[in-house]
Amino acid sequence: MTTGRIVIIGAGQAGASAAMKLRALGHRGPLVMVGDETAPPYQRPPLSKKYLLGEMAMDRLLLRPEAFWAEQQIDLRLGQPVLSINRSAQEVRLGDDVLRYDTLVLATGAEPRRVPAAIGGDLPGVHVVRRVADIDALAPEMTPGRRLLVVGGGYIGLEAAAVARKLGLEVTVIEAAPRILGRVAAPETADFIRALHRRHEVEIIEGVGLDRLLGDTRLTGARLADGRQIAASLAVVGIGVEPSAGLAAAAGLPVAGGVVVDAFGRTADPAIWAAGDCTLLPFRGHQLRLESVQNAIDQAEAVAANILGAARPYHPKPWFWSDQYDLKLQIAGLNLGHDRVVIRPGPTPSHWYFAGDTLLAVDALGDARAYMIGKRLIEAGRSPDPAMLADPAMDLKSLL
Ligand SMILES: Cc1cc2nc3c(=O)[nH]c(=O)nc-3n(C[C@H](O)[C@H](O)[C@H](O)COP(=O)(O)OP(=O)(O)OC[C@H]3O[C@@H](n4cnc5c(N)ncnc54)[C@H](O)[C@@H]3O)c2cc1C
Repeated sequence: MTTGRIVIIGAGQAGASAAMKLRALGHRGPLVMVGDETAPPYQRPPLSKKYLLGEMAMDRLLLRPEAFWAEQQIDLRLGQPVLSINRSAQEVRLGDDVLRYDTLVLATGAEPRRVPAAIGGDLPGVHVVRRVADIDALAPEMTPGRRLLVVGGGYIGLEAAAVARKLGLEVTVIEAAPRILGRVAAPETADFIRALHRRHEVEIIEGVGLDRLLGDTRLTGARLADGRQIAASLAVVGIGVEPSAGLAAAAGLPVAGGVVVDAFGRTADPAIWAAGDCTLLPFRGHQLRLESVQNAIDQAEAVAANILGAARPYHPKPWFWSDQYDLKLQIAGLNLGHDRVVIRPGPTPSHWYFAGDTLLAVDALGDARAYMIGKRLIEAGRSPDPAMLADPAMDLKSLL
């Protein structure tokens, strides 16, 4: 199979992982990676954690030292958005430049949803958390005593809330859904995280949407759907992301809330592959998106191998983590389709999701061992007896 000239659009986690794997697996041909951000490929998870807190410098965010890309003969073009794909000519357009490709990889990630400008979303003081430039704008505003409104009780908003408390801000989180973490975690996990934030004096308001953000020249607060008003001079909006699939859609590729790929990471066009947050991929009989570092790396590496002819389907082994205050929440598996949650009680509990007798996922709330054992069981397709799991006296190791 000839792979020729490979162009990767997006220089984030998935793009970088694909590029590195292509070189590691022996692709010696031209390899171009185009990114619209100016920073070389970097990891995003610390953005809402240590980088926002000021405990991690930019050079430690980088996935590889800056010189690495040239050493690997990866032609990294930064600060240049790809504007369009011409599939019949096998070309992509960046400003005045046109790049020919034999193989194209879409690794365009996702964009944060914003509060519409019509209800105050463009007021100074309103921030999103996706790019390092977002944090460089937000961090100087996180000064003690200010009032921060977090719109959205998902992981990103809750991590920002935890950092803000550590920095001495007053924090209110509003969540339109009946509870925080509604999309991703069981009520038991949400209860634990809510209690943690309340112990740190974060006000959490659930089941009430935002009516509008208030202010003339700058954010001064918010009015909620029930008429309540909240004062705030700063807001972090964490209401999820939209996959960056516009280029693919404009090029006529199937897009359905993500660039549709098969188990090999290939789109409907055999010359075009995709990986990471922008993709809609098959998993356990569903088509879904996985927004995680694990998926960005593993899917991109599978795509690299498949471009070079491996013909190996990618089977996601989801895992995820979130740091809030001193808690490390670790999640193995995906709880999609669970019908019950088995609680393993204790100061660092774990919540085990089952569909019938099949273990699907575990949320380990500060218990690294439960996470590791749960992950191994799920990956091996083994399901422990729920009654044993619920017994805190039972040594989890005996399940392996
Ligand atoms: C604040 C934050 C915290 C997170 N925490 C965790 C965590 O704790 N654990 C975890 O597993 N995951 C976490 N994630 C998710 C994880 O970072 C993403 O799943 C991962 O970065 C996805 O990689 P990606 O390469 O698909 O997308 P991205 O990393 O977003 O990279 C895509 C890149 O493509 C660029 N691009 C888009 N369109 C174009 C174009 N037309 N031309 C050129 N370039 C383009 C984008 O600007 C971006 O640089 C977090 C994400 C954020 C934002």
